[in-house]
Amino acid sequence: MLGKGGNHIAFGNRMQACFDQPSRHAAALQLTMGRLFPSLATAPVVQSWTGASDRSATGFPFFGRLPGHQRVLYGLGYSGNGVVQSHLGGRILSSLLLGERNAWTDSGLVRGPLAHFPPEPLRWCGAMLVRNAIRRVEQAEDRQHKPRWLDTRLAACAGMAGKTDHPQPSASRR
Ligand SMILES: Cc1cc2nc3c(=O)[nH]c(=O)nc-3n(C[C@H](O)[C@H](O)[C@H](O)COP(=O)(O)OP(=O)(O)OC[C@H]3O[C@@H](n4cnc5c(N)ncnc54)[C@H](O)[C@@H]3O)c2cc1C
Repeated sequence: MLGKGGNHIAFGNRMQACFDQPSRHAAALQLTMGRLFPSLATAPVVQSWTGASDRSATGFPFFGRLPGHQRVLYGLGYSGNGVVQSHLGGRILSSLLLGERNAWTDSGLVRGPLAHFPPEPLRWCGAMLVRNAIRRVEQAEDRQHKPRWLDTRLAACAGMAGKTDHPQPSASRR
């Protein structure tokens, strides 16, 4: 399984049909797979799919009680990295639900959203600007060219979510 995040950005956080369809980037992903794992370059891809994931302004999840509705707890913002973090989320939410006071409830993630994206249409325009800059940086690096300074600055705005697809010695990749 090989994946890549940050392709289709939803305007106004509206779920769209393309979030639940075969991937429009399957051909590009197959090329990346061949580059990362040459022995798989011609392996047939049996299925591709797309899914929506949220993105918090910090790249970190946040937890809390809904203002004005103290009995409603929330955990959001895993930013594409929720498989492991949702375990932490479960610990935090269950401790809050049970009214416990511990390291989970005292963690810095339990203060609600720590930052906000600008309102639409600035948010969508900014996200497209950053997404396209990440793509140009990756293309330049794939060609062993030095990415343009402005592109690296824009790509850095994505913080930890803007992972470029380079094989890390020990890291497994999506
Ligand atoms: C294509 C894709 C690849 C990903 N790859 C990775 C990866 O490699 N590593 C990683 O760490 N993370 C990855 N993620 C992100 C990860 O899947 C999410 O961060 C994580 O699943 C978020 O957990 P969650 O519990 O907040 O939400 P979800 O897992 O979305 O769970 C929410 C649940 O609530 C249910 N629900 C919704 N509305 C209602 C309702 N009204 N009533 C009752 N139930 C409802 C939904 O059916 C769903 O089961 C990926 C996400 C996608 C889409």
